[in-house]
Amino acid sequence: MAKDVLCEVNNCTYWGNGNKCNADAIYVVSQKGKQASNSEETDCKTFAPEA
Ligand code: SF4
Repeated sequence: MAKDVLCEVNNCTYWGNGNKCNADAIYVVSQKGKQASNSEETDCKTFAPEA
């Protein structure tokens, strides 16, 4: 399990100062089904826009 998740998406509900993700867990998915060829093909599905 990842201990620290750093993230640049600063309009996410879970985003915190220092680029820290404050979610208890995150779910990462591939844009191409179950596999990816590089990091650009992956996405954080836990993302929730700030209200
Ligand atoms: S939930 Fe995902 S998008 Fe939101 S801060 Fe954490 S890693 Fe970034």
